[in-house]
Parts: sequence; C-alpha cells; structure tokens
Amino acid sequence: MTTIMDGKALSEKIYEKIKSDVEKLDRKPTLAVILTKDNEAGAVYVRNKQRACEKTGINSMTIEFEPNVTENEMLSKIDELNNAPEVDAILVQLPVPNHLDTEKILNRISPDKDADGFHYVNAGKMFTGQMPASIACTPKGIIRLLDEYKIKLEGLNALVIGRSNIVGKPIAQLLLQRNATVTMAHSKTKNLSEYTKMADLIVVAIGKPKFLNGDMVKDGVVIIDVGISRVDGKLSGDVDFDSVAPKASFITPVPKGVGPMTVAMLIQNTLELSK
Ligand code: NAP
Repeated sequence: MTTIMDGKALSEKIYEKIKSDVEKLDRKPTLAVILTKDNEAGAVYVRNKQRACEKTGINSMTIEFEPNVTENEMLSKIDELNNAPEVDAILVQLPVPNHLDTEKILNRISPDKDADGFHYVNAGKMFTGQMPASIACTPKGIIRLLDEYKIKLEGLNALVIGRSNIVGKPIAQLLLQRNATVTMAHSKTKNLSEYTKMADLIVVAIGKPKFLNGDMVKDGVVIIDVGISRVDGKLSGDVDFDSVAPKASFITPVPKGVGPMTVAMLIQNTLELSK
C-alpha cells in the first residue's frame, strides 16, 4: 500500500503551533523579504510566504528593487535590515539578476537573521552537527515530513539526486546525521539506475519533469520529490508519479508535498530567530 505524504496538511498543523507560540510572545516577529521586480516566479513564492506570515501572526515586509539595482544598493539595504531591531529574519528571494553576486548577497545577511539558512556560518554549523537556529528550509521540511510519517532513517540506503547548496547537499547531510547510508548523484553520475534500484529512500531535486520512473526504483521505496517545473501550465515534479507511486511505500506529491513544507520551515526559522 502506498501512503501519499501530505505536506500541505502538515504545514497547516505547523502553522497552528507557530500561531499559538507567537501569541505568547511580547512582540510579533518580523520577516523582511527582498525581491527584484523581474523575478516573476519568485514573486509567487513571496506571496505564499506573506500568506503564511499572516496565518501565524508574523509581520512581513517586502522590499522591491528594480531589476537594474546595483550590488551596493542591495548590500546597503541588507546592512540596514541587519541593524534594524524590529527585523528578526531576512531573506533574499532567488534568483537575483545576473549582474549581482548571489553568494556575496546571501552572506551579507547577518547569520542571526538568516531566514533561509544559506549563510555559510549557518550552513557550516549544520554540516558540523552544531544545529543553528536556521537550517535550509527545504531539507529541514523534508526531515520534518519523514518524521511525521515515522519513517525510520537509521540504516536506510538513501540516494540524493542533485547536489545544489540549497537542497541536495544539506539534505544529504541531515540524512547522514540520522544514520542513513547516503549516496549522492548528479548530472555526471554514470548508470544512475543502478543506484536508484538499490535505494530505500530517494530524494530527487534536479528540476527535470518526470525524470525518475517506475522502472528505476524497487518495491517499497520512499520517494521525496523536490522538483518543481511547469509543464503545459501545470506543476510537475521530478518523479513520474503514475509509474513510481504503485511501487512506493511513501511518496510526496507535487504540488502539496515538499513545497508547502519549505514555506512552513521558513516561518519556523523566523520564529526561532526572533527568540
Ligand atoms: P539546481 O541548483 O539547478 O541543481 C540541480 C542539480 O540536479 C545539480 O546538482 C545537477 O547536477 C543535477 N542534475 C541535473 N540533471 C541531472 C540528471 N539528468 N541526472 C542527475 N542529476 C542531475 O537545482 P535546485 O535549486 O536544487 O532545485 C532542483 C529542483 O527543485 C528544481 O525543480 C527547483 O524548482 C526545485 N525546488 C523545489 C523546492 C521546494 O520547496 N519544493 C525548493 C527548492 C528547489 P550537476 O551539479 O552535475 O549540474
């Protein structure tokens, strides 16, 4: 029997808890979001994040820049927010325009206000097992979802496909900390099917619609589909759900799987940074 892991329902449960925690605080936490006006996909994500703030009683402020914003203008705004006592957490919605240095911008955010957990100090703490207040939201959400469904990670053969700094590398690390035996695959991996067929748990984060199909996995596998692509106006994950789901013991859908968990963890990070 296949269980479809409901990230949407779990995110709502998490919002309820955050809301009651926020009500007990003397002041409402504030999340500041920086967005450039040419980032249309980012604007959709920012609206979702604002809605999640509203649900939980967290203040949100959005700072919008023109696409030709200079690096100095953006860095100065981050400095201003870093120094603003009323701001608890800051995020820069990616991607930023090509003429800006993404790493430089992300690392200008104070590690104490790093809502996304992308600052190298927070990433480094996570990689060395000293859990920081903010951990990258998608990997944190995946672990929360696996825990909710009581999936025991210790000893599992886990395969992570994709090695980005925001998903692949941190989720591999978190799985390793939970004593899974972790393999990482990427675009240069040879004979990927040999790895996918051996895996008890597969996290796919590559951005290639329906890439992983039923012939590539074994019976009983746990599937976490991180991919989000738009195909003919509809959202698609990296997993061919129709062929993989019948073989899986647990699987996340797209939408309503990992996506809502990512936003919920951002709000959780904001609350934790405010404390
Ligand atoms: P990314 O930075 O573009 O990295 C993609 C990774 O996939 C790279 O490591 C690449 O390998 C690997 N890859 C590409 N083609 C491959 C192939 N044929 N076989 C094996 N590996 C392959 O991606 P990302 O930012 O991690 O995002 C991945 C996907 O997740 C996207 O669809 C994105 O929209 C989605 N996403 C969803 C959420 C959510 O909340 N649900 C959050 C973040 C991202 P190389 O390193 O060798 O190039």
